[in-house]
Amino acid sequence: MKDKDLSESSDEPPAGSSSQSLKQFHSAGRGFWRDVSDADWNDWRWQLKHRITNAEQLQRLMPTLTPEEFAGAKLANTKLALAITPYFFNLIDPADENCPIRLQVIPKVAETHTASWEMRDPCGEDSHSPVPGLVHRYPDRVLFLVTDRCAAYCRYCTRSRLVSNATGYDFHPEFDKQIAYIAAHPEIRDVLLSGGDPLLLSDEKLENLLSRLRAIPHVEFLRIGSRIPTFLPQRITPELCAMLKKFHPLFMSIHSNHPRELTTEVRDAMGRLADAGIPLGNQSVLLKHVNDNAEVMKAHMQKLLMCRVKPYYIYQCDLISGSAHLRASVRKGIEIMQQLRGHTTGYAVPQYVIDAPGGGGKVPINPEYVLSHNADRVVIRNFEGKIFEYPEAADGTPLSKPPKEIEEPELV
Ligand code: SF4
Repeated sequence: MKDKDLSESSDEPPAGSSSQSLKQFHSAGRGFWRDVSDADWNDWRWQLKHRITNAEQLQRLMPTLTPEEFAGAKLANTKLALAITPYFFNLIDPADENCPIRLQVIPKVAETHTASWEMRDPCGEDSHSPVPGLVHRYPDRVLFLVTDRCAAYCRYCTRSRLVSNATGYDFHPEFDKQIAYIAAHPEIRDVLLSGGDPLLLSDEKLENLLSRLRAIPHVEFLRIGSRIPTFLPQRITPELCAMLKKFHPLFMSIHSNHPRELTTEVRDAMGRLADAGIPLGNQSVLLKHVNDNAEVMKAHMQKLLMCRVKPYYIYQCDLISGSAHLRASVRKGIEIMQQLRGHTTGYAVPQYVIDAPGGGGKVPINPEYVLSHNADRVVIRNFEGKIFEYPEAADGTPLSKPPKEIEEPELV
């Protein structure tokens, strides 16, 4: 598909992507790697070793690469490295330059354009970091950065200043110092391991780290944030799951943005994690031409539930330098939330948030459902636009007057 005007996002789902077809599960297949043995293909280390990491490789595998993509891939290593696992590469539609998978992992020259309001560290992590690799922004929990490496690199990554070390950030976590800080702060009850991707550590290293954190009496709850289940489902081995289940309560937040990422391989990997008793949530980033469409997003949320994953957050894309071409509007995000709430299972409705620029933390963004609120009553609107009143009472105080009857719900 060539020459499509990308200046405006469509309210219509892409052609051929009806809700039912978006929710069908398919295998990523073998594609270019059809002669590779099953043992190699299903080996996560083989997948990592055979990642696509430069413009020439990309062009050889995908002759339909556009000049904008080829030039972007050439420049990538000065900003955020290029890497795509063979498995994930197979999800790209080479005939569609607006393919939602392709837009997430193939660089474009537009990444080098930085607007004045964009930032290197949009969530202010470095300024909330008491020791290298630890972010303590909320009172009772910390973000523990484990590595700067990922299985593949998302072109909108909020941590692109450090991830892959393309800009020379030179990230070196110091587990001893990070763990010592947590041990010395009894208010920390929740530790989120992230990065980079913590599941790139070997089982042994990860087990060692989790054991040390579990040994701290005030750490109640462990979490792992990982994109590996969608970039590299082969990593979710029975051995990994057996190890992780020793550290309950342990939750995992995965990251997927489009229903096509949820393949049979991902569904099986999620099943292994869920069978190990790990509650699974998904974080999506709202991205222009990827998932800024209510039908696509609803299918994605419903398909996540079919994979035993609860949709947890939709993030407004952070103001990361060079991401303007991928950022959808907040107006679009609110519209999508409006199309989810009440229109599908409550479990399929995540929280839409903006991470307040500069380090203000997550702020929930909702369509307006409370129309007015005073000492006596709350006037609310439901998902169909009908208006209702709910009588309000201050604690223990009788209502000052009976609630006014509303004969018929009104539409706004
Ligand atoms: S997997 Fe996460 S940390 Fe890695 S590039 Fe993607 S968004 Fe960034």
